[in-house]
Amino acid sequence: MEAKPEFYGLLGVDRKASSDEIRSAYRKLALKYHPDRNPGDAEAERKFKEISEAYDVLSDEQKRKLYDQYGHEGLRGTAQRDFRTGSFEDIFAAFGDIFGESSPFGDFFGQSRGGRRGSRRGASLRVELEVGFEEAALGTKKTIELTRHELCGTCRGSGAKAGTSPVSCKSCGGRGVVARNAGFFMVQQTCPSCGGEGTRIEVPCGDCRGAGLQRAKREIEISIPAGIENATRMRVGGQGEASRDGGPSGDLYCDIYVKEHKYFKRQENNIILELPVSFAQAAMGAEIDVPTLHGKHSLRIPRGTLSGAMLRMRGQGVTGVDGRGRGDQIVIVTVAVPAKLTKRQEELLQEFAKIELENLGKKNWWEKVFGS
Ligand SMILES: [Zn+2]
Ligand SMILES: [Zn+2]
Repeated sequence: MEAKPEFYGLLGVDRKASSDEIRSAYRKLALKYHPDRNPGDAEAERKFKEISEAYDVLSDEQKRKLYDQYGHEGLRGTAQRDFRTGSFEDIFAAFGDIFGESSPFGDFFGQSRGGRRGSRRGASLRVELEVGFEEAALGTKKTIELTRHELCGTCRGSGAKAGTSPVSCKSCGGRGVVARNAGFFMVQQTCPSCGGEGTRIEVPCGDCRGAGLQRAKREIEISIPAGIENATRMRVGGQGEASRDGGPSGDLYCDIYVKEHKYFKRQENNIILELPVSFAQAAMGAEIDVPTLHGKHSLRIPRGTLSGAMLRMRGQGVTGVDGRGRGDQIVIVTVAVPAKLTKRQEELLQEFAKIELENLGKKNWWEKVFGS
């Protein structure tokens, strides 16, 4: 087994060193060997891990006692951080807070971790939007009005009065967390003075009263893609509330509701249209202009079309929201029976009925239809 270096020797202090002396020695060495200052230097990295491990033990009264009495053997089974596998962020988490506000790490640890609290995204907003049937089928642009929180233009979100800036919190040294000694361990908790912000505003911005955000009324144009279906949730990236701490803005969700049409119905990408035709048109066939999403188009009603027959108008449906596969218009023919007749119409129908009756012979009309 490889012999572990002796902890006091590593930190360059003697066995009677006070905790202040140990801390100060570690600070000096940690700054020297910190990987941020020695990028790519494996030897410095190894050294940094060693001294960090030594400090972990010697800064803890209990562990130090065990180490003094039994050496490395005495630390077996104690809660010991494994610096060989722990990331440097873990090491920071273990040590960063015990230095207090005068910490030489205060700034560069903060930066190297890319924002100590991890900034939060702004809240998302949701709006409901009703669009016409044709607008949804063909695509449209809609302008909506909403009120949201945006970065205060006066202080650019800092919350501090112009000419001043937020100051680092004295209680936590700007880290947003403080360490509390819970017996054996150091426990991190959110700094009660700054609520985890790490900074405090001494003179608040007059416009946002220090919040850094202001409510603003905005008109936002939403592009609604052709083919969108009823009850579709659209995400408009970054148009939600601004972040309170420098993170990205939230998103805006638009719930799209499509109004019903007077006579078109949608079935996937097909349009269904019920088309009343007269008995004469159905019987003799006709060429009629039929409304479609894309204007009026001519449709041939074949001779002898029955009520309920389906006629297909190719390519006259909706293009799917993915831009592929335009559907058809399906025309369901209904043969209309006139409720009122003019005298002349009635005469002609009487004549028609007479001829029909002669053709039927002794059969009923239904017997002819069913062929019995
Ligand atoms: Zn402001
Ligand atoms: Zn604080």
